[in-house]
Amino acid sequence: MSQTIQSSALRARLINLGSTGVVVGVHALCLLIPFVAFSWWIAAVAAGSYVLQVLGITAGYHRYFSHHAFKTSRTFQFVLAWLGCSAMQNGPLWWASGHRRHHRFSDLPGDPHSPLLGGFWHAHIGWVTSGANDHPDLANMKDFTRFAELRFLDAWKWVPTIATGAICTVAWGLPGLAWGFALATTLAFHAPLFVNSLGHMRGSQRFDTGDSSRNNAILGVLVLGEGWHNNHHHAQGLARHGLVWWEVDVTYYAIRVLQALHLVWGVREPRVVAVIDAVAPVPGA
Ligand SMILES: [Zn+2]
Ligand SMILES: [Zn+2]
Repeated sequence: MSQTIQSSALRARLINLGSTGVVVGVHALCLLIPFVAFSWWIAAVAAGSYVLQVLGITAGYHRYFSHHAFKTSRTFQFVLAWLGCSAMQNGPLWWASGHRRHHRFSDLPGDPHSPLLGGFWHAHIGWVTSGANDHPDLANMKDFTRFAELRFLDAWKWVPTIATGAICTVAWGLPGLAWGFALATTLAFHAPLFVNSLGHMRGSQRFDTGDSSRNNAILGVLVLGEGWHNNHHHAQGLARHGLVWWEVDVTYYAIRVLQALHLVWGVREPRVVAVIDAVAPVPGA
């Protein structure tokens, strides 16, 4: 018994070598960029790869798997899970389980990535690469654990990442590997993680949510709408995080396009949007 406790305590102090190795390896491949031919076409490939991977996290892992902000088919659910998984933040069940705990225990013991408890680096990438988080309790994910294909992605989490690298290399050669895979995946890895770290440290609070969540315009743009994080902590189930016209929320626009294409439906919208513009920020925030 004491041996089990000791080994789990030891594991808790260790990084997950597999996760960390892949993340470091993809970052290292970015060093190829100065040595490959640049073209605007390959820059566009990288931008497309970035947007698809980030949408996998923001629309898929976050707004769908964590919050049921819209409904979709089992097939498109898998597409979203695959895209999110390609951004190196582990499988959809792992990610959404941790995120549900983040909302349940925001900034309190039990929150897997609060910068107030663990500091910036833990909130940013430490919680992803920590050996302590390898096998989370998925009891809060019973609505999705019944899908074998999602359990497959959690177990074989590097398959989508490696597939992105293979597709980019076969289609566009070394520039594809460097720009379309390495750079795009590295940026798609960090961008949503900045919401967990800086999104709880820098910005303003429109709503008194009782936690450190912030609205941050720079993250709002770069992370395709996820930067309106205080809005989100206030109304977690909404598909829309930017609540006034100038709060750019590309993920929400993408969800509306997918709705028009009948790929998603049952999109959860705020009941009143115009009134929110008049809500004063929390004093001192
Ligand atoms: Zn948060
Ligand atoms: Zn959330």
